[in-house]
Amino acid sequence: MIIGIDLGTTNSLVAIWQNGQATLIPNSLGEKLTPSVVSVDKDGAILVGQSAKERLISHPEQTASVFKRFMSSQKNFRLGTSHQFSAEELSALVLKSLKADAEAYLGEVVTDAVITVPAYFNDHQRQATKNAAQMAGLTVRRLLNEPTAAAMAYGLHEQNDDCKFLVLDLGGGTFDVTLLELFSGIMEVRASAGDNSLGGEDFTELLIQGFIKQQQDTDAAFWQPYLSLLHGEAEACKRSLTHNKQATMSITIDETLYSWQITDSKFEKLCEPLFQRFRDPIERAIRDAKLRIKSLDEVVLVGGATRMPVFRQLMTRLLGRFPAVNLNPDETIAIGAAIQAGLVAEDAALDEVILTDVAPYSMGVDTTLEIRENQYQHGVFSPIIERNTVIPTSKVHTFYPMQDNQTEVQFNIYQGEARLTRDNIKLGELTVAIPASHRGKARQLPIDVRFSYDVNGLLEVDINLSDSQENYNLLIQNGAKQLSSKEIENSRDKLANLKTHPRDQAQNRSILARAERLYAQRLGFERDQLARLIGWYETVLDSQDPQQIRKANSEISKSLEQFERDDWF
Ligand code: ADP
Ligand code: MG
Repeated sequence: MIIGIDLGTTNSLVAIWQNGQATLIPNSLGEKLTPSVVSVDKDGAILVGQSAKERLISHPEQTASVFKRFMSSQKNFRLGTSHQFSAEELSALVLKSLKADAEAYLGEVVTDAVITVPAYFNDHQRQATKNAAQMAGLTVRRLLNEPTAAAMAYGLHEQNDDCKFLVLDLGGGTFDVTLLELFSGIMEVRASAGDNSLGGEDFTELLIQGFIKQQQDTDAAFWQPYLSLLHGEAEACKRSLTHNKQATMSITIDETLYSWQITDSKFEKLCEPLFQRFRDPIERAIRDAKLRIKSLDEVVLVGGATRMPVFRQLMTRLLGRFPAVNLNPDETIAIGAAIQAGLVAEDAALDEVILTDVAPYSMGVDTTLEIRENQYQHGVFSPIIERNTVIPTSKVHTFYPMQDNQTEVQFNIYQGEARLTRDNIKLGELTVAIPASHRGKARQLPIDVRFSYDVNGLLEVDINLSDSQENYNLLIQNGAKQLSSKEIENSRDKLANLKTHPRDQAQNRSILARAERLYAQRLGFERDQLARLIGWYETVLDSQDPQQIRKANSEISKSLEQFERDDWF
């Protein structure tokens, strides 16, 4: 069985293709969404998902979130005093947890997966995702662009032929825009664009800043220690505004109540600075596909943050139509991943949906341009594969050395859209020696540079000296930080040796984390009560008596609910 995984910035999901349909697999708490959060508890054991998310507030120093934004970077996340992880390793822990959920559900070992990535992930980030899977003991059978997965979830439901649609995916931290065309059963990605530092979190951040600005007698420094608490309030307020005309954020500090009531129209005003950032990638995708907004048949919204009425209204205004939202926006991508997993498993079904994808960035080499006679500009980007070319693709350009006495030519490989290479991302380099036969007349040597880009988003560069048989080859997987298979193996062992709680304790851990989060949020009398409750609960857990624990779980859950309800008076 190949599982389909939506490895999200905020939430991750796992689904399978079974009996002709996609099924979402619940985690050990019975939830379909597993927060992409990792924490280390006081015994040094790893927590993943909801219990880790609760600890963002009570134990921020021991907890890591939004690490997807740092995939393939050198950033190290320190969790407590004894643990340190890369973004790949943290992602691997989330993948391991999803893998275990799937195994518990299926009753069999799972080794293969289709994993989705944002369309805008570059080669390094894609390779990092594959590395993470390997660390988790999963072989990636296909990396699938998230909006493409969403389109598949819709495409199969949609029987309309010759249909053009726009997929807008607004998750916690990424905004992806994809233009697809369904024609005679073939779904083609016509263009993709996006902003990978724009998401639902930015709306939460605006609410936090708005709240702070409203409070007289306090400044930003005053709020510094309370930011994670404020974040929780802002998140709840944002969700509340999805269903209500107004909502309130309130926090009590040293017996002073700080609160802010915000209406939907005030919220819309607050969000205005983000609107242009939504417009840009949409315009770019439509222009690249040489289409007009009017010719779109359907607009599809996916990602939890597209639930926000402000976002829907903006899109409706911008695109002159109401978006389709008949699938659950949180689940669409995982469903698409499961469909793809089903297709990979039995390629017979491939006849039904043929899917083409596009290169998200232009890729090319650094060149020197002769502007006028004997006047040169260095560092000019010369694209070989252009943005939004249908993949897999292979393109060749011929270059010539600049000087007759050159003995070698260095090709620097870049991706991006800027005219000058210094503004693009360097992927790698390849140095070609001029053969002895061309000494002194290098300028006459044609050098063919071939770029091949595959469906997994990996770039292969082949350089061929046409006059000789010389060949140079470079597979660009991860130029910035190329993990060797030894390093991946080491990470895999490191993660395998971490202490974790047995699956059947997930519920207990989550209850404990929730109680501790409430403790961190409350003060005074409530704190005393919570401290006693937590102390008592811990002794019950220590007893390891399943029956007592079950009884305690239901008791403490009731008490915690009471505390949480008091939140709203
Ligand atoms: P990702 O793809 O980044 O993992 P998701 O698609 O799960 O993200 O979306 C997460 C985002 O959706 C978060 O920013 C969250 O606040 C937001 N979100 C989820 N439900 C709602 C809602 N009902 N109203 C407003 N925002 C929501
Ligand atoms: Mg997502």
